[in-house]
Amino acid sequence: MTKSELALECIRRLKEEYPLADCTLDYDHAWQLLVEVRLAAQCTDARVNVVVKDLFAKYPTPAALAAAGEDAVEEVVRPCGLGRSKARDIVACMEIIANQYGGRVPEDFDALLALPGVGRKSANLIMGDVFGKPAIVTDTHCIRLCNRIGLVDGIKDPKRVEMALWKIVPPEEGSDFCHRLVYHGREVCTARTKPYCDKCCLADICQKNL
Ligand code: SF4
Repeated sequence: MTKSELALECIRRLKEEYPLADCTLDYDHAWQLLVEVRLAAQCTDARVNVVVKDLFAKYPTPAALAAAGEDAVEEVVRPCGLGRSKARDIVACMEIIANQYGGRVPEDFDALLALPGVGRKSANLIMGDVFGKPAIVTDTHCIRLCNRIGLVDGIKDPKRVEMALWKIVPPEEGSDFCHRLVYHGREVCTARTKPYCDKCCLADICQKNL
């Protein structure tokens, strides 16, 4: 089986296993997802979803967040960890969203990447989830699973994994496939325990590079 064939088969099976391929961050507006992906660094999505309830109740627009200042934002986002740097990025990012983009998140990968605190993973997530564009989101689950399954060979660098996946994953499948890898990584192909290969839908095609 080539890597492209392996990718297609994984996509097919994970679709059956996890029909819903939602992002696990809750948001009503694109700018909120931008804030949340920054908060999600080294923090669980579940905790981010709780913390942003307070944050968005207090500061309901990009302009309000920008005007709040770093100290006030840090006060609310501290439970997510790395409060100072996250608050600094969020305020700087929301200033640009409010002042340069009229409160709207730009539908352009390079423009997203230029925002404070936004890396390739976040920019891809926004392109895929908000704008429905092709996207490959290489988070920790995606990188671990792709190596274990054999979709990539010993590549840990997120950008290199992303580039390798672009070559074998149909563009329109990328965003949902990455979400499903997160589900599978949490429930079956886990990081902290031995993966549950005995109940994995990919067991017969996975290289099990553990
Ligand atoms: S077979 Fe095992 S290593 Fe491979 S994806 Fe499934 S749980 Fe992970």
